[in-house]
Parts: sequence; structure tokens; C-alpha cells
Amino acid sequence: MLYISTRGNIEPQSSAQAISLGMVPAGGLFVPQDIPVVDWQELQGLDYHELALFIMRLFCNDLPDSALQQAVKVYGDGHFDNPNPAPLVDIDGCGLLELWHGPTAAFKDMALQVLPYLLAASIKAVGLDAEVLILTATSGDTGKAALEGFKDAPATKIVVFYPDGGVSPVQERQMITTGGSNTYVVAVSGNFDQCQTAVKRVFSSQDLREKLFNNKKVFSSANSINWGRLLPQIVYYFWAYLQAVKQGKVESGSPINVVVPTGNFGNILAAFYAKKMGLPIQKLICASNRNNVLSDFFQTGIYNSNRPFYLTSSPSMDILISSNFERFLFEMTGRDAMRINKWFKALGTEGSYQVEDPILKTCRQNMYAGWASEEDVNQTIAAFFREYGYVLDPHTAVGVKVYQDYKQQSADNSYTIIASTASPFKFAQSVLEAIQPGQGAKEDAWGSLNKLSDLTGWQIPSGLRNLQDKEAQPVRKCLPTEIENFILEQFC
Ligand SMILES: *Cc1c(COP(=O)(O)O)cnc(C)c1O
Repeated sequence: MLYISTRGNIEPQSSAQAISLGMVPAGGLFVPQDIPVVDWQELQGLDYHELALFIMRLFCNDLPDSALQQAVKVYGDGHFDNPNPAPLVDIDGCGLLELWHGPTAAFKDMALQVLPYLLAASIKAVGLDAEVLILTATSGDTGKAALEGFKDAPATKIVVFYPDGGVSPVQERQMITTGGSNTYVVAVSGNFDQCQTAVKRVFSSQDLREKLFNNKKVFSSANSINWGRLLPQIVYYFWAYLQAVKQGKVESGSPINVVVPTGNFGNILAAFYAKKMGLPIQKLICASNRNNVLSDFFQTGIYNSNRPFYLTSSPSMDILISSNFERFLFEMTGRDAMRINKWFKALGTEGSYQVEDPILKTCRQNMYAGWASEEDVNQTIAAFFREYGYVLDPHTAVGVKVYQDYKQQSADNSYTIIASTASPFKFAQSVLEAIQPGQGAKEDAWGSLNKLSDLTGWQIPSGLRNLQDKEAQPVRKCLPTEIENFILEQFC
């Protein structure tokens, strides 16, 4: 399988090259040259790790099979707190796909437990004799999941940049207590977009790339701009469908809808690829929080990031520049790299771009987009707990609320799967406040973990227990403009 650039600025590359580079050095994202079509019925009866192996082989046929076999073992060897790493739980006639049974209690583990193996195999396959320096911008969950995945990985260093004050106390504590001899955590002043943009700039600095190379180091990314992050995410949409059929919720072959609480557009893009691969998905539903740049785009055809940035109770979706939207538009334009160049150049200089009506129409045929306010989120969490005894995290609650709106507007009764992206304990204070107004404010981040557990009878995930007692590593603080210098000083 070869990978091409959304901006047409590199020759087709092997999967090993696409994964080890992370993104196209001149800007642009790698996408598979062809999307393989599979007959999902032939996948029935596979275990999760067998399914993962099947899908990953299709896209990485240039990597040794033994490496892929080793990679998928993570789904079955105790890294996840459930024998089924992604259970589908039926509540109120829709399926919540719980993607948070991994070590950091958010869905990013599903891919970031595997990525280190894919990356190591890719580096070996391209014959690089260099250490890999992984740079990752995080709005909270990627950081910890990446640190956990890459901690003490051979010939690898990982640096995580997060917006200072823009992540939850639990997320921050999780990151700075990772340990490991190769992990670095940096708090960057500003919001996530400024942080991510600065890190992307570092990736495209030819000068820095050369200096690192002279020190036998190469960059890569653990963000969802890296194809190796998206690929393992495709797997669980197939898994969800197979479970829904097995549970008798969906008749074999009938289409489902898929709802994804969205930030950087990686998770929903994986669902989109699953659909292109032949999985019977009817509507993809993109759910945003108050930072509703995507749902505005689907209304108007204008992507405008020049707007107030809100800190919400779903911080991992506080994003105004959704990196993977570039891949989606590439497909919506029939893979027109010229147009992508034009729009994303405008996004860089003016902070906005507008697509033509026929393209907007195609986008709408493929996807419905909506958003939920903070009040909607609180009400949804409270109502779900009251009615079903089920505890939603704020990100998942955004998805549930947008789905309820969609269902009302469309009268579409197809079985619907909602990606449940985090354990409620990861955002315990907000969840507690939603369920028992006044309580969340009374407790600090740690008290609310216990309180939420007492109140709901749900167990605190092991990765979140005793966090406050763990030893913290030093955190560097810097400005977005200082990131490049930090890397030079530390690694050259
Ligand atoms: C990262 C994250 C999201 C957003 O996912 P994208 O792939 O960036 O769209 C949603 N919910 C949670 C809990 C997350 O950690």
C-alpha cells in the first residue's frame, strides 16, 4: 500500500515511510492511495486482535507480519481492563462503544498502545539509523496516552506539549507522573491551537530537521496527523458493527449511524474510512462542543477559526483547527490537492477558507454535524444517570446530545453507535457537578473521584487511582515561539 499527500507535494510513499515521517515534511497529510474494500461478513467470529491484524495488514503490507502480530497483542494481554477492549453497551436503544478501557482511560489508548510497535517496525523497514524524537501537542488525552505508550521504548524520546491551564487537573497529573527515562512534558502558554500550530511548524522546519539529523535524530508524531494513529481506530468501528449484529441489535447488512464527539477529526475520520471500506454506515454524525467551528462549516461552507476560544468541560474537544479535516476534504473534492493547498494556505494566513457549494453538498451527504452547549452537556449527563444509572463523561455527553437532536430532526431510526471516548472519572469534577449540582464545586479533583465512585457505584479506573501520591516530574514552561529552541537545547 502506498500513501499520497493531501497537497500533492511528495511522491507516493510506503506505509513505513508515511508512519515514520508522521506528516509530509513540506506540509500535508498522508492518505492511502487506495482504500481496500472488505466484506465485513467474513470478519464475523474474529477476536479483537485478529480483526486488528486483518485490517492493519491491508494498509501496512510492507511491514513484516511478525511486527504486526506483536503489535496487536496489546489488546489481549492485560493492557486493557476488560477482556473485550471495546465493549458495545446498549442504553436506551443505542450502542455506546466504550473505548476507554485502556491504561489512561480515554479512547486514544486504542491506537497509542499500538503505535510504538508500528513506528519501531517502520523505522527499521526504512533502514533509518537514528533515534526517533516524538513531538506531540495535546489537548489533554493524547499526551498521557502517548507518554504511556512510548515510555522506555528503545531508541525513542517523547516530548508532550500541552496548553498551560488548558487541561483538566487529572489529565495534567496523569502526564507529569508517567516516569520513564525518555519522557518530557512541556506546558506552553496559550490554547491548544497555538500549541498544535507551533508543533506543526517545528515539523516543517527544514533547518531543525537537518540539525537533528546531524545528531542522529528524526522527528515523528503521535498525533492523529500520523497515519499510524488513525489505522488502529478503523478497527473498532468494524468491531462495533460485528457486536451490534451479534447482540441482535442490527440485522446483518443493515446500515447503522455512527456518532463521534470530535476535536481534531481523527476518530470520526477513522469511521469514514471504515465506511469507504464497505462497513454499512449510513450517516456519520460529527458532534462538537461550544467550539463549534465544524458544525458552522457544515451550515455555511465556511471554515472560520477566527472566533472566541472557549474552555469547556470537554477539553479534549476544545479545538478550532481540526487537523484531519484536511483528509476529509481531500476525499470530498475527489482528491483535488490543488484545492486543498489553496484552502489550507488561506487557513494559515487568514484563519479561514470557504468551499464551493457542490463540495459543501457532498460534505453534507456524508456527514451531519451538530454541537452541544455546556448546559446541554450537564443536562444530558444528569438525565442519563437518573434514567439508566449510566455515567457519561462530558465528551460522550456531547455526542449523545447531538445524536438526540439529529434523531428528532431526521426521524432516522437506524441503530446508532456512539463513540464513548473517555471514562467519566477522567473528568470527575464536571461529571459530579452535573449529577449533583454544588458537589463538584465542593470537591477538588481528587475528592471528586472518590465522591463520584461512592455516588454511582462505578469503580475508579486503576490508572486514575492514587495519582496525587505519585511522584511528579519537572514541567518546563515555554511560549509557543520557544518550542524550537527548547528542542535545539535539549536534543542537539
Ligand atoms: C481526543 C478526544 C476526542 C476528540 O477526538 P479527535 O480524534 O481529536 O476528534 C474526544 N473525546 C476525548 C475524550 C478525547 O480524548
